Amino acid sequence: MLNNYKHHVLASEAEQLTADYKTRNPSYPTHKGMDFVDDAGKCVIVAVADGVVESCRNDVVGVDHKYNTAGNYVRIRHPNGTYTRYLHLETGSVCVKSGQTVKAGDKLGIMGETGDSYGKHLHFDVCIDGVYVDPLPYLMGTKGFGNVKPSPSDPVDLRKGDKVELKTAPLYVSSTVGKKSGTITGTYYIYADGIINGRIRITTPKGCADCTGWVNAADCKSDKPAEKPAPAPAQPVALKVGDKVKIKTGALTYSGTRLASWVYDAVFDVQQVGTISNKDYIVIGLDGQITAGMRAEDLIKM
Ligand SMILES: [Zn+2]
Repeated sequence: MLNNYKHHVLASEAEQLTADYKTRNPSYPTHKGMDFVDDAGKCVIVAVADGVVESCRNDVVGVDHKYNTAGNYVRIRHPNGTYTRYLHLETGSVCVKSGQTVKAGDKLGIMGETGDSYGKHLHFDVCIDGVYVDPLPYLMGTKGFGNVKPSPSDPVDLRKGDKVELKTAPLYVSSTVGKKSGTITGTYYIYADGIINGRIRITTPKGCADCTGWVNAADCKSDKPAEKPAPAPAQPVALKVGDKVKIKTGALTYSGTRLASWVYDAVFDVQQVGTISNKDYIVIGLDGQITAGMRAEDLIKM
Protein backbone atom coordinates (compact mmCIF):
# COMPACT_ATOMS: atom_id res chain seq x y z
CA MET A 1 0.00 0.00 0.00
CA LEU A 2 1.24 3.44 -0.88
CA ASN A 3 0.40 5.54 2.10
CA ASN A 4 2.71 8.41 1.26
CA TYR A 5 0.27 9.83 -1.29
CA LYS A 6 -0.84 13.35 -0.63
CA HIS A 7 -3.74 13.16 -3.06
CA HIS A 8 -6.01 10.19 -3.41
CA VAL A 9 -8.23 8.61 -6.04
CA LEU A 10 -9.97 6.18 -3.70
CA ALA A 11 -12.15 7.40 -0.87
CA SER A 12 -10.57 4.77 1.38
CA GLU A 13 -7.14 6.35 0.72
CA ALA A 14 -5.90 2.76 0.67
CA GLU A 15 -4.75 2.56 -2.93
CA GLN A 16 -2.95 -0.63 -3.83
CA LEU A 17 -1.00 -0.44 -7.03
CA THR A 18 -1.50 -3.34 -9.43
CA ALA A 19 0.06 -1.85 -12.57
CA ASP A 20 2.36 1.13 -12.61
CA TYR A 21 3.14 3.80 -15.19
CA LYS A 22 5.07 2.61 -18.24
CA THR A 23 8.50 1.25 -17.36
CA ARG A 24 8.09 1.10 -13.60
CA ASN A 25 7.35 -2.36 -12.26
CA PRO A 26 4.92 -3.95 -12.25
CA SER A 27 3.76 -2.59 -15.57
CA TYR A 28 4.10 -2.71 -19.32
CA PRO A 29 5.63 0.00 -21.55
CA THR A 30 2.39 1.11 -23.17
CA HIS A 31 0.58 1.65 -19.88
CA LYS A 32 -0.06 5.39 -19.63
CA GLY A 33 -1.57 5.45 -16.18
CA MET A 34 -1.58 3.72 -12.84
CA ASP A 35 -3.96 0.91 -11.86
CA PHE A 36 -5.30 0.60 -8.36
CA VAL A 37 -7.38 -1.74 -6.30
CA ASP A 38 -8.45 -1.20 -2.76
CA ASP A 39 -7.69 -3.60 0.04
CA ALA A 40 -10.51 -2.27 2.18
CA GLY A 41 -13.26 -3.48 -0.10
CA LYS A 42 -14.77 -0.02 -0.33
CA CYS A 43 -14.28 1.10 -3.84
CA VAL A 44 -15.51 4.66 -4.07
CA ILE A 45 -13.55 6.64 -6.67
CA VAL A 46 -12.93 10.29 -5.83
CA ALA A 47 -11.60 13.33 -7.67
CA VAL A 48 -7.88 13.75 -7.00
CA ALA A 49 -8.17 17.55 -7.05
CA ASP A 50 -10.59 20.39 -7.73
CA GLY A 51 -11.77 20.74 -11.30
CA VAL A 52 -14.61 20.55 -13.77
CA VAL A 53 -15.95 17.33 -15.26
CA GLU A 54 -15.16 17.60 -18.94
CA SER A 55 -16.73 14.33 -20.04
CA CYS A 56 -17.98 11.09 -18.59
CA ARG A 57 -19.75 7.89 -19.52
CA ASN A 58 -22.02 5.70 -17.46
CA ASP A 59 -23.74 3.21 -19.79
CA VAL A 60 -21.02 0.78 -20.84
CA VAL A 61 -21.98 -2.72 -19.74
CA GLY A 62 -19.32 -5.31 -19.18
CA VAL A 63 -15.84 -5.86 -20.49
CA ASP A 64 -15.03 -4.49 -23.94
CA HIS A 65 -11.44 -4.90 -25.10
CA LYS A 66 -12.06 -3.33 -28.48
CA TYR A 67 -14.45 -0.38 -28.68
CA ASN A 68 -15.27 1.25 -25.38
CA THR A 69 -11.90 0.51 -23.86
CA ALA A 70 -12.23 3.19 -21.20
CA GLY A 71 -15.53 1.69 -20.08
CA ASN A 72 -17.44 4.05 -17.86
CA TYR A 73 -15.19 6.92 -17.00
CA VAL A 74 -14.86 10.47 -15.73
CA ARG A 75 -12.49 13.03 -17.23
CA ILE A 76 -11.76 16.13 -15.19
CA ARG A 77 -10.11 19.34 -16.27
CA HIS A 78 -8.12 20.96 -13.48
CA PRO A 79 -7.48 24.69 -13.19
CA ASN A 80 -3.92 24.58 -14.53
CA GLY A 81 -5.03 22.71 -17.66
CA THR A 82 -4.09 19.25 -16.45
CA TYR A 83 -6.63 16.47 -17.09
CA THR A 84 -7.21 13.38 -15.00
CA ARG A 85 -9.19 10.30 -16.01
CA TYR A 86 -10.78 7.54 -13.96
CA LEU A 87 -11.60 4.48 -16.05
CA HIS A 88 -13.52 1.18 -15.90
CA LEU A 89 -16.17 2.39 -13.41
CA GLU A 90 -19.17 0.28 -12.54
CA THR A 91 -22.15 0.63 -14.89
CA GLY A 92 -24.58 3.25 -13.63
CA SER A 93 -22.32 4.31 -10.76
CA VAL A 94 -20.97 7.55 -12.25
CA CYS A 95 -22.55 10.26 -10.13
CA VAL A 96 -21.20 13.42 -11.81
CA LYS A 97 -22.17 15.13 -15.03
CA SER A 98 -20.25 16.97 -17.72
CA GLY A 99 -19.75 20.60 -16.77
CA GLN A 100 -20.08 19.90 -13.07
CA THR A 101 -17.55 21.45 -10.71
CA VAL A 102 -15.94 18.96 -8.36
CA LYS A 103 -13.72 19.34 -5.33
CA ALA A 104 -10.85 17.10 -4.36
CA GLY A 105 -12.33 14.05 -2.65
CA ASP A 106 -15.76 14.33 -4.27
CA LYS A 107 -17.23 10.97 -5.22
CA LEU A 108 -17.17 10.22 -8.95
CA GLY A 109 -18.38 6.62 -9.05
CA ILE A 110 -17.63 3.07 -8.00
CA MET A 111 -14.69 0.91 -9.06
CA GLY A 112 -15.76 -1.49 -11.77
CA GLU A 113 -14.68 -3.73 -14.58
CA THR A 114 -16.05 -2.08 -17.71
CA GLY A 115 -14.11 -1.51 -20.93
CA ASP A 116 -10.66 -2.95 -21.50
CA SER A 117 -10.30 -4.30 -18.02
CA TYR A 118 -9.05 -7.59 -16.70
CA GLY A 119 -10.43 -7.68 -13.20
CA LYS A 120 -11.98 -4.90 -11.17
CA HIS A 121 -9.64 -1.93 -10.84
CA LEU A 122 -9.31 1.79 -11.35
CA HIS A 123 -7.12 3.08 -14.15
CA PHE A 124 -6.03 6.61 -13.30
CA ASP A 125 -4.07 8.81 -15.65
CA VAL A 126 -2.89 12.40 -15.98
CA CYS A 127 -2.72 14.23 -19.29
CA ILE A 128 -1.12 17.56 -20.17
CA ASP A 129 -1.41 19.04 -23.66
CA GLY A 130 -2.48 15.68 -25.07
CA VAL A 131 0.40 13.75 -23.50
CA TYR A 132 -0.12 11.22 -20.73
CA VAL A 133 2.43 11.98 -18.06
CA ASP A 134 3.56 10.12 -14.97
CA PRO A 135 0.74 10.39 -12.39
CA LEU A 136 3.00 9.66 -9.44
CA PRO A 137 4.31 13.20 -8.78
CA TYR A 138 0.72 14.40 -8.82
CA LEU A 139 -0.34 11.82 -6.25
CA MET A 140 2.74 12.63 -4.17
CA GLY A 141 1.94 16.33 -4.34
CA THR A 142 5.23 17.36 -5.90
CA LYS A 143 3.31 18.48 -8.98
CA GLY A 144 0.05 20.31 -8.66
CA PHE A 145 -3.32 20.84 -10.27
CA GLY A 146 -3.45 24.40 -8.96
CA ASN A 147 -4.96 27.48 -10.44
CA VAL A 148 -1.93 28.62 -12.33
CA LYS A 149 1.11 26.72 -13.42
CA PRO A 150 4.01 27.88 -11.28
CA SER A 151 6.17 29.91 -13.56
CA PRO A 152 9.96 29.83 -13.49
CA SER A 153 9.83 33.60 -13.14
CA ASP A 154 7.91 33.39 -9.86
CA PRO A 155 9.89 35.56 -7.45
CA VAL A 156 9.82 33.09 -4.60
CA ASP A 157 9.59 29.34 -4.82
CA LEU A 158 6.35 28.78 -2.95
CA ARG A 159 4.13 25.77 -3.28
CA LYS A 160 0.78 24.75 -1.85
CA GLY A 161 1.14 23.69 1.77
CA ASP A 162 4.41 25.53 2.38
CA LYS A 163 4.61 27.19 5.78
CA VAL A 164 5.41 30.88 5.59
CA GLU A 165 6.08 33.62 8.13
CA LEU A 166 4.52 37.02 7.53
CA LYS A 167 5.33 40.24 9.30
CA THR A 168 2.89 43.13 8.93
CA ALA A 169 2.52 42.16 5.32
CA PRO A 170 -0.22 43.78 3.25
CA LEU A 171 -3.22 41.49 2.74
CA TYR A 172 -5.36 41.73 -0.38
CA VAL A 173 -8.78 40.35 -1.24
CA SER A 174 -7.71 39.23 -4.69
CA SER A 175 -4.76 38.98 -7.01
CA THR A 176 -5.87 41.77 -9.26
CA VAL A 177 -8.35 44.10 -7.67
CA GLY A 178 -6.15 46.54 -5.94
CA LYS A 179 -6.72 47.59 -2.43
CA LYS A 180 -5.12 46.31 0.69
CA SER A 181 -7.67 44.87 3.09
CA GLY A 182 -5.29 45.12 6.02
CA THR A 183 -2.02 43.71 7.21
CA ILE A 184 -1.20 40.28 8.47
CA THR A 185 1.42 38.82 10.81
CA GLY A 186 2.18 35.26 11.85
CA THR A 187 2.46 31.74 10.50
CA TYR A 188 0.38 30.86 7.47
CA TYR A 189 0.33 28.24 4.73
CA ILE A 190 0.27 28.60 0.98
CA TYR A 191 -3.30 27.84 -0.05
CA ALA A 192 -2.64 27.03 -3.73
CA ASP A 193 0.16 27.07 -6.26
CA GLY A 194 0.49 30.00 -8.56
CA ILE A 195 1.70 33.56 -8.18
CA ILE A 196 -0.47 36.06 -9.99
CA ASN A 197 0.63 39.66 -10.26
CA GLY A 198 3.24 38.94 -7.62
CA ARG A 199 0.61 37.74 -5.14
CA ILE A 200 -0.15 34.31 -3.73
CA ARG A 201 -3.01 32.94 -1.61
CA ILE A 202 -2.50 31.95 1.98
CA THR A 203 -4.58 30.09 4.52
CA THR A 204 -4.70 29.99 8.31
CA PRO A 205 -2.36 28.00 10.52
CA LYS A 206 -5.09 25.52 11.36
CA GLY A 207 -5.09 24.37 7.76
CA CYS A 208 -8.52 25.82 7.26
CA ALA A 209 -9.94 24.94 3.86
CA ASP A 210 -10.70 28.58 3.12
CA CYS A 211 -8.34 31.07 1.60
CA THR A 212 -7.45 33.89 3.98
CA GLY A 213 -6.48 36.26 1.21
CA TRP A 214 -3.66 37.25 -1.07
CA VAL A 215 -0.26 38.51 -0.02
CA ASN A 216 2.81 39.57 -1.95
CA ALA A 217 4.87 36.47 -2.63
CA ALA A 218 7.96 38.49 -1.81
CA ASP A 219 6.60 38.98 1.72
CA CYS A 220 6.41 35.23 2.33
CA LYS A 221 9.44 34.01 4.18
CA SER A 222 9.43 30.28 3.60
CA ASP A 223 11.22 27.97 6.01
CA LYS A 224 11.93 25.70 3.10
CA PRO A 225 15.59 25.49 2.17
CA ALA A 226 16.08 27.30 -1.09
CA GLU A 227 16.07 24.91 -3.98
CA LYS A 228 19.32 24.69 -5.79
CA PRO A 229 18.89 26.19 -9.21
CA ALA A 230 18.96 23.52 -11.88
CA PRO A 231 22.25 23.48 -13.73
CA ALA A 232 21.91 25.55 -16.85
CA PRO A 233 21.45 23.29 -19.84
CA ALA A 234 24.36 23.39 -22.24
CA GLN A 235 23.58 26.20 -24.61
CA PRO A 236 22.94 24.54 -27.92
CA VAL A 237 24.54 26.47 -30.71
CA ALA A 238 21.95 26.91 -33.40
CA LEU A 239 23.91 25.90 -36.45
CA LYS A 240 22.82 25.20 -39.98
CA VAL A 241 24.51 23.89 -43.06
CA GLY A 242 26.69 26.57 -44.59
CA ASP A 243 27.45 28.42 -41.35
CA LYS A 244 31.06 29.33 -40.70
CA VAL A 245 32.49 28.04 -37.44
CA LYS A 246 35.67 27.91 -35.43
CA ILE A 247 36.53 25.14 -33.00
CA LYS A 248 37.09 25.92 -29.33
CA THR A 249 40.72 25.43 -28.40
CA GLY A 250 41.31 21.96 -27.01
CA ALA A 251 38.00 20.52 -28.20
CA LEU A 252 37.93 16.89 -29.28
CA THR A 253 36.03 15.44 -32.20
CA TYR A 254 32.68 13.80 -31.51
CA SER A 255 34.35 10.42 -31.25
CA GLY A 256 36.98 11.78 -28.88
CA THR A 257 39.92 12.16 -31.26
CA ARG A 258 42.36 14.97 -30.55
CA LEU A 259 42.58 17.54 -33.30
CA ALA A 260 45.72 19.01 -34.82
CA SER A 261 46.52 22.37 -33.31
CA TRP A 262 46.05 24.32 -36.55
CA VAL A 263 42.35 23.47 -36.71
CA TYR A 264 41.57 25.70 -33.73
CA ASP A 265 42.48 28.73 -35.81
CA ALA A 266 40.83 27.62 -39.04
CA VAL A 267 37.33 28.60 -40.12
CA PHE A 268 35.22 25.65 -41.26
CA ASP A 269 31.92 25.22 -43.07
CA VAL A 270 29.08 23.35 -41.43
CA GLN A 271 28.33 20.48 -43.80
CA GLN A 272 25.78 18.42 -41.87
CA VAL A 273 23.68 18.95 -38.76
CA GLY A 274 22.19 16.03 -36.91
CA THR A 275 21.94 14.36 -33.55
CA ILE A 276 23.55 11.31 -32.05
CA SER A 277 22.33 10.08 -28.65
CA ASN A 278 20.32 13.31 -28.21
CA LYS A 279 23.42 15.45 -28.68
CA ASP A 280 23.95 17.76 -31.60
CA TYR A 281 26.31 16.25 -34.12
CA ILE A 282 27.85 18.71 -36.52
CA VAL A 283 30.00 17.75 -39.47
CA ILE A 284 32.47 20.44 -40.43
CA GLY A 285 34.79 20.67 -43.39
CA LEU A 286 36.85 22.76 -45.74
CA ASP A 287 36.27 23.14 -49.47
CA GLY A 288 33.57 20.50 -49.45
CA GLN A 289 35.83 17.96 -47.76
CA ILE A 290 34.81 16.54 -44.41
CA THR A 291 37.22 17.41 -41.63
CA ALA A 292 35.51 16.14 -38.50
CA GLY A 293 32.26 15.38 -36.69
CA MET A 294 31.96 17.74 -33.73
CA ARG A 295 29.70 18.52 -30.81
CA ALA A 296 27.82 21.77 -31.30
CA GLU A 297 28.98 23.05 -27.90
CA ASP A 298 32.58 22.90 -29.11
CA LEU A 299 31.91 25.20 -32.05
CA ILE A 300 31.88 28.97 -32.21
CA LYS A 301 29.63 30.48 -34.82
CA MET A 302 31.41 33.18 -36.80
ZN1 LIG B 1 -4.49 0.93 -16.52
